[in-house]
Amino acid sequence: MKQQPFDEWVLAAEDLTPEQAKALQEHLSTCKNCQALVEADCAVRSLFTDAAVISPDPGFVQRWEERLNRSRQKAHRRQVSIVLGVSAVAAGIILSVFSVKLLWLLASLDDLLIDIFWEGFRMIEAVALIGHFGTTFIDVLSGVVSPLWGVALISLIVGLCVLWFISLYRIGHQNV
Ligand SMILES: [Zn+2]
Repeated sequence: MKQQPFDEWVLAAEDLTPEQAKALQEHLSTCKNCQALVEADCAVRSLFTDAAVISPDPGFVQRWEERLNRSRQKAHRRQVSIVLGVSAVAAGIILSVFSVKLLWLLASLDDLLIDIFWEGFRMIEAVALIGHFGTTFIDVLSGVVSPLWGVALISLIVGLCVLWFISLYRIGHQNV
């Protein structure tokens, strides 16, 4: 039997002609080296087959994207929660400050109302007093001076009263 490239035939078993395949089969039954080569070839091929099983299956990319989307949604929800939380805290602080300011304002408004009440009361009292003096003054005058002078005097008194009220009003507003 002439020397054949059996080692090459072992590695390219699919491309052999029927005669070559038969010759290889006969050689393998006697040659230990070529039997070892066949076993090594089988081992390498099965290794590739196993690797193919390990490689990602068709749904892998989809599942990976779904997981990515889920983690993105989670991150988004977390951001929204943080924004809402910070807003709530800020709103709480503003509301607290506003409430304190409002209470303070109401308290000062209470004082202000009391002041206005007393101011008004004193003013009415003053007007009544002036009216009383005024009528007494006119009664006295009407018996002494002519009606023309009486009118002039009353006008003067009314004018002075108006001036007095204006100055009182101004002083009151300067104090506030
Ligand atoms: Zn051989």
